[in-house]
Amino acid sequence: MPKGNIMKIFRISGGIHPKGNKELSAEKAIEPVPMPSVLRIPLQQHIGAPAVPIVAKGDVVKKGQLLAIARGAVSAPVHAPTSGRIVAIGRFVAPHASGLPGATITMRPDRRDEWGERLPALDPATAEPSALAERVGSCGIVGMGGATFPSAVKLNLRSRHALHTLVINAAECEPYLTCDDRLMRERTDDVFDGIRIMAKALGVAKVLIAIEGNKPEALAALTGAARATGDKSVAVVKVPTRYPMGSEKHLVQTLTGLETPARALTADIGIVVHNVATAYAVYKAVRLGEPLISRIVTVSGKAMVRTGNFEVLIGTPIHHLISHCGGHVEEPARLLLGGPMMGQPISSTRASIVKGSNGVLALAESEVPSGKTMPCIRCTACVVACPCGLAPFDMAQRIRNDELDGAVKIGLLDCLSCGSCAWVCPSHVPLVQYFNYAKGKLTAEQRAKHKQEETKRLSQFRDMRMDKLKKAKQEAMAKMMAEREAKKKAELAEAADEAKVTE
Ligand code: SF4
Ligand code: SF4
Repeated sequence: MPKGNIMKIFRISGGIHPKGNKELSAEKAIEPVPMPSVLRIPLQQHIGAPAVPIVAKGDVVKKGQLLAIARGAVSAPVHAPTSGRIVAIGRFVAPHASGLPGATITMRPDRRDEWGERLPALDPATAEPSALAERVGSCGIVGMGGATFPSAVKLNLRSRHALHTLVINAAECEPYLTCDDRLMRERTDDVFDGIRIMAKALGVAKVLIAIEGNKPEALAALTGAARATGDKSVAVVKVPTRYPMGSEKHLVQTLTGLETPARALTADIGIVVHNVATAYAVYKAVRLGEPLISRIVTVSGKAMVRTGNFEVLIGTPIHHLISHCGGHVEEPARLLLGGPMMGQPISSTRASIVKGSNGVLALAESEVPSGKTMPCIRCTACVVACPCGLAPFDMAQRIRNDELDGAVKIGLLDCLSCGSCAWVCPSHVPLVQYFNYAKGKLTAEQRAKHKQEETKRLSQFRDMRMDKLKKAKQEAMAKMMAEREAKKKAELAEAADEAKVTE
């Protein structure tokens, strides 16, 4: 069995080895999920500005039809996952830990699943790189590993960066998740095709597909696909099973030895990273003209009656997926959207599966780390585990003391919120909660500052405009008075002339 290219890889510091629990779903083939009675499609499923609806309540739409357009440079459009009628456009519970509602299009499927007009297939061999990126953008593709950054923006990075390598993140390092593994095993050729299309769009000479060693079948499948094409620019690389191997910067360092400077992009060192499920979506967009309207989701955890990997329409309510899997064996101790390390608690199962949802986990009590929070004993286990070389206990201490600037000084903004530090902490200090709270507070402060500056700028602009108007008015008045005066003088002169003639 091919085992991936023998390529030198580089050791990175930190990281942990949590129990993978992938056996709960890894051998379950991808299954479709029956059509739900309602689909709720959030307009904000990506990083950037929310999409803007172009349909109205009552409209009848076809599968794949554009429902909302991208707004601004960083955004993504949203398409109808099936045919049916738009029944509401308004705020609905969003798939976010806050449980706060977000703008959502609700549609009722007509169960005919009829496609509307599809975009024509593009031939990647002849299409311009910009046309490929444009297609990816118009099909609403975003990073499907959970980051949800609009993929077209990343594919266009060649205009501003000297790129040489595309890294495909197929590590799937989060415990429990197996959706990428199944995708690579079951749809190998399409995934591989999508990867080569992205390489063409980026204009890179080298592609590295990184797969963790705990997925031997996926490694074999993609290695076989690479060999079959004879494409020497693509290497399938087995990387160590270590969390968080899927973090962009760490994956790049493992594969190339190159370090991405703090707060810089991997593109700054010539490398772009895309998730493997994104490559599959790119294949569908370019070869079939299909927008991103479904994705593969792992359902797992010991509180689930049935686990597996499912092809789910975007907008499917989470409760529909859970009941399709037979519901729960016991009340879940934790219900998560995503993996156990970086996933978000599900505040309501009425929220939907969105483009970035790679897993729904219902964890039983026995699967959840337990233990009372105790004072920090300064054991430094968190420092050893941190892949970013930070001192988590020190950052947490500063945040507790409300010294956010101090926490920023020692690297808070470089923290990935990966949870490795909290996972090893013998005192069960909720380190990531501290970091997320602090980052949230800093973002809110920044937003408030930005708003204040914007208000000041607008008010200065208004004052300037008023001054200008006032000045223009004064000048117009002065001009009018001068003209009147001149006219009056002319009339007087004319009258005087006439009087002279009469004499
Ligand atoms: S691992 Fe926990 S107890 Fe040890 S130093 Fe870090 S925060 Fe403190
Ligand atoms: S959550 Fe942040 S501080 Fe903790 S290990 Fe991950 S990167 Fe380091």
